[in-house]
Amino acid sequence: MVAAISEQIPTDLEPIFRSQPKLSPEERALVLRAYHYAAKAHEGVKRDGGEPYITHPVAVAQILADLRLDAPTLAAALLHDVVEDVEGIGIEDIERTFGAEVARLVDGVTKLEKLPTNTDAMKGGKAGNREAETLRKIFLSMNNDIRVVLIKLADRLHNMRTLGYVSPERQIRKARETLDIFAPLANRLGMWQMKWELEDLSFRYLNPEKYREIAAQLDIRRAEREQYLETVKARLIKEISAEGIPIVQISARPKHIYSIYRKMERKRVSFDQIYDIHALRVIVPEKGQCYQVLGVVHNIWRPIPGELDDYIGAPKNNFYQSLHTAVIDDQGKTIEVQIRTPEMHENAEYGIAAHWRYKEGTAHDKVFEERLRYLRRLIESAAEDVGADSDPQEFVKAMRSDVFQSRVYVFTPKGDVIDLPSGATPIDFAYHIHTDVGHRCRGARVNGIQVPLDYRLKSGDRVEIITGNKRAGPSLDWLNPSLGYVQTSRARHKIQAWFKRVGRENNIALGRNVVDRELRRLGLSAKPREEVAALFGYSKVDDFFAAVGYGDISAPNIATKVLEADRKAQREAAAATLTPNTEAHTRPVNVSDGIDIMGGSGMLITLGRCCNPVRGDPIVGYITRGKGVTVHRADCPNVINSLEPERFINVTWGSSVERAYPVPILITAYDREGLLRDIGAITANENVNIADLRVQVRNSIASIFLTIELENLDQLSRILAKIEMLPNVIEARRRVSV
Ligand code: MN
Repeated sequence: MVAAISEQIPTDLEPIFRSQPKLSPEERALVLRAYHYAAKAHEGVKRDGGEPYITHPVAVAQILADLRLDAPTLAAALLHDVVEDVEGIGIEDIERTFGAEVARLVDGVTKLEKLPTNTDAMKGGKAGNREAETLRKIFLSMNNDIRVVLIKLADRLHNMRTLGYVSPERQIRKARETLDIFAPLANRLGMWQMKWELEDLSFRYLNPEKYREIAAQLDIRRAEREQYLETVKARLIKEISAEGIPIVQISARPKHIYSIYRKMERKRVSFDQIYDIHALRVIVPEKGQCYQVLGVVHNIWRPIPGELDDYIGAPKNNFYQSLHTAVIDDQGKTIEVQIRTPEMHENAEYGIAAHWRYKEGTAHDKVFEERLRYLRRLIESAAEDVGADSDPQEFVKAMRSDVFQSRVYVFTPKGDVIDLPSGATPIDFAYHIHTDVGHRCRGARVNGIQVPLDYRLKSGDRVEIITGNKRAGPSLDWLNPSLGYVQTSRARHKIQAWFKRVGRENNIALGRNVVDRELRRLGLSAKPREEVAALFGYSKVDDFFAAVGYGDISAPNIATKVLEADRKAQREAAAATLTPNTEAHTRPVNVSDGIDIMGGSGMLITLGRCCNPVRGDPIVGYITRGKGVTVHRADCPNVINSLEPERFINVTWGSSVERAYPVPILITAYDREGLLRDIGAITANENVNIADLRVQVRNSIASIFLTIELENLDQLSRILAKIEMLPNVIEARRRVSV
């Protein structure tokens, strides 16, 4: 019987059966039938590279066989393009011929392929919708049967391997999508091999020069590196054996081009500075022995402080387990060592796919079920927060922030562990505990010490939320992305929902406050609110306030729009009123389009002390006697009231941002200890200098006159907002002196 089957096996199926030798005769027969069915369906069709189409499903099945996936998955992989591409074959045909399980898998993959039609895309009207929709479908199918996603990943991997035959535009698009969606997905599923290969293949098309450069460098050093690693290996084998620990395997770890590139970028170093990092992997039978080997390694070579990671004691959330350390040998070379058991190694290589591998015991499978449940919970809660019929872009944003990112593990005061995406704040924590705790969150203590609400939680932190009274609500500032109060989509949506609920009247009042505060901060209090509303397309000012109150329009949005409009109006006004005079007037410079005050015009440029213009402000130049040009804000009273309009010229801020500009600000606060230190911390965080500082205290109210050196106005809005959030501060605004 077995012999009879093997006689019929086509040559291209042989490697598949070799990779997955544990299939029963019935299972082999299923795979074989799927192969013949697909070969017939795709008959006569060629791929872009010219080879018969069937080579593609076979290659996809091979990738999955290497992951040791089960027979229904392999059969579905062989059939995955049949329903999509072949006229006259429907999913009912697959179900009739191959049964419900295979049909369900094929149907899942086919549905993933079907992207939104033109009308759908037009409804959304956004370029990224297609990508968003793909990702959404993948996540939803992950919730049904994760094997569908594994087939899709294998399909993508083979398409990336054969990407050389398609048009350059398609190459870039596919590579981008792979790097953005499929590689992080493989990583999240713990499939490291797949992740590396997808990344390297994408990188090759997205940055071909860099890819070739690194590949060539790796090649040149290969012999040298391999020789060195052999010596290190021999030494390790000797020392580990001397301790009586059996070794399953010691091997050099392959280097991945994209990860080298990332490391070079991250550390801002050249290839030479990282090439001599040598990586070894030691596999020993038992967990306890992993720690013994660690001791041996640290005994032979000097460990680098801070480089020891115990992912056995505290596994990464994508199922990864291993000990990592880095040491320095006698010649000063860095050696990275990973230590793990065969089972941990299998998990690291195959990730979630290991669940379907044929194996003896079942204890292991329980662990995987547990982890799969965890992953599903993450996806479900993110999907729930966004809402079922929301914009696909929103969904993708939620997945990116809540599911793809690495996570931090923190404790409640009772000692329960809560995990949140890294970058999460006490507000995210509060909303995770309970929506009401979030709404009423007024402060937080981490490890017993009070922290600001934009504090980034770290693993191991013990977090305690300080709540206000029952009627307290969230602050609109929490929705302001530049303030960084909220990281999770859950918190964001709960806050938005709160503001939608509190009603229009309330929102109008809230919105008016935000608008007033923002304009005051920018020194533009006098600007009619109707004009500002019109900039956002609102004819009724109350509608505009309500939109701000709901959190649909944020304070920085307002600042940017208002300043842009001002600049434009100023440019037009200047062109209309000042240009006619320019011809008549003799000046030491030739001005047609305005002087770029940042560029080398050769003129002496001074910034007006009366109004202290900041980059981004509408400005005009004033020709002074013997002093070149003084630059004023366009609304400076000295300009408006000037009796000599012919001395004004157009000037622009130009493009260089190297020089900082002083902005005077005034902070009013109830005096307290440490206030100046807190303000200093904010400016230091923003990389902004303090040029001048003066403090007056009267009746315990402090007036702090501060001059900070800025590069642009976006920064100003953020810094003022942050200072205003400090305890005891009443107001922080730009000082517009006259
Ligand atoms: Mn395909």
